[in-house]
Amino acid sequence: MELITKAPKGTVDKLPSEINKWHTVEEVAAKVAETYGCREIRTPTFEHTELFQRGVGGTTDVVQKEMYTFNDKKGRSITLKPEGTAGVVRAAIENGLLNEALPQKLYYFTSCFRYEAPQSGRLREFRQFGVEIFGADSPICDAETICMVNDIFRFLELDNVSLEINSIGCPECRAKYHEALKAYYEQYKDQLCDTCKERLERNPMRLLDCKSEICHGFAENAPIILDYLCDNCETHFETVKSTLDKMHIKYTVNPRIVRGLDYYTNTVFEFVSDSCGAQGTVCGGGRYNGLVEEIGGKPLSGFGFAMGLERLLMVMDAQNCAYSPAKQCDLYIAGTDPTSSAYAATLVRQLRQYGFWAECDIVGRSLKAQMKYADKINARFSMVLGENEINSGSAELKNMKTGEKLTVSIGDNFAEKVNSILMDIE
Ligand code: ATP
Ligand code: MG
Repeated sequence: MELITKAPKGTVDKLPSEINKWHTVEEVAAKVAETYGCREIRTPTFEHTELFQRGVGGTTDVVQKEMYTFNDKKGRSITLKPEGTAGVVRAAIENGLLNEALPQKLYYFTSCFRYEAPQSGRLREFRQFGVEIFGADSPICDAETICMVNDIFRFLELDNVSLEINSIGCPECRAKYHEALKAYYEQYKDQLCDTCKERLERNPMRLLDCKSEICHGFAENAPIILDYLCDNCETHFETVKSTLDKMHIKYTVNPRIVRGLDYYTNTVFEFVSDSCGAQGTVCGGGRYNGLVEEIGGKPLSGFGFAMGLERLLMVMDAQNCAYSPAKQCDLYIAGTDPTSSAYAATLVRQLRQYGFWAECDIVGRSLKAQMKYADKINARFSMVLGENEINSGSAELKNMKTGEKLTVSIGDNFAEKVNSILMDIE
């Protein structure tokens, strides 16, 4: 096939026939986030490469291997967003959002771009829904935001996802943990993958997250961070857990969760499912108290998550979840001749003012072909206009499902009358 008629590897078209699925998850996610006081933010698709190097972290897979980076015509290094958080933090700092009343609660939808090996649940362009909360230090924020994800899944009637949580402590307790990890991995050093050999010095926690089989195997018996938490971090984690208990949110503690990104502190969590192929994580997030300062703002805590929407839809499909119904044509008005078709165009225009999906012939088809089209697009009602109808000022409104016909005036108040008829039927 010609290259130009084939989408680039790892990208997918979201087609009209499935767009109601996207609308369903987008509407539910936004609505739930708004009940928690989050407001939507939209940030650019590309940023300075350095933002991600700093904000995502130089030892992560994302920065080391997966970014779409290029020089623009003035030689600036630009990167397509591989994730949503860094851009939101940059925008919040730049636009003074962190000087407003805190906590500042934001949500976003974005495309993310990562150069990965495409497979089921793993794309090069994918969609994320995410939330970022700034200036909320309490462990109740952690529990509440996890609860937000849980609410979204509940509204979507999803029940094949489970929550795993962990704490990765603060820089102090993590320093001791790093020592223990280094000592553990030192014995296997020769067998580690090349990336991990290098990470062992710079950020040994990354080794727990490595996807290569051999490194993954060594992670099994590695020391766990929970044994190294300082008193403050321990108390924080205990409160997150007890708050989740009080909210009746089920979870398991998984000490192997470290998250792929460098800026996390304390709570980290993932919602996992076995219905999205080998890529089990639908949503991941946690606390990132070091990030705002790292990106050049004042020291300010953060908590957030990102949900992979293609994976979410895979899980919903696997579970046969219900989506909001696809929109449907309300009324097709056919014309028997060019004059009637032009008249039909004025009537459908009136209907559209009421928010109806209304169509008339814009192709120049015969009456028969017009009715065939009305059938194909599954119009709920149809009407035929000809010289007689126009002269008499009334026409028949046909219910395409039942065949029932009603005479309506096509003069003044046409749209108002059709509106009340269609409302009655619903
Ligand atoms: P993974 O371990 O699967 O690579 P990750 O840790 O890289 O995930 P995050 O950076 O936390 O993922 O992104 C949040 C969510 O975005 C993931 O939980 C997943 O649902 C989704 N996601 C990440 N990478 C991809 C991808 N390449 N294709 C589709 N969805 C993705
Ligand atoms: Mg990844």
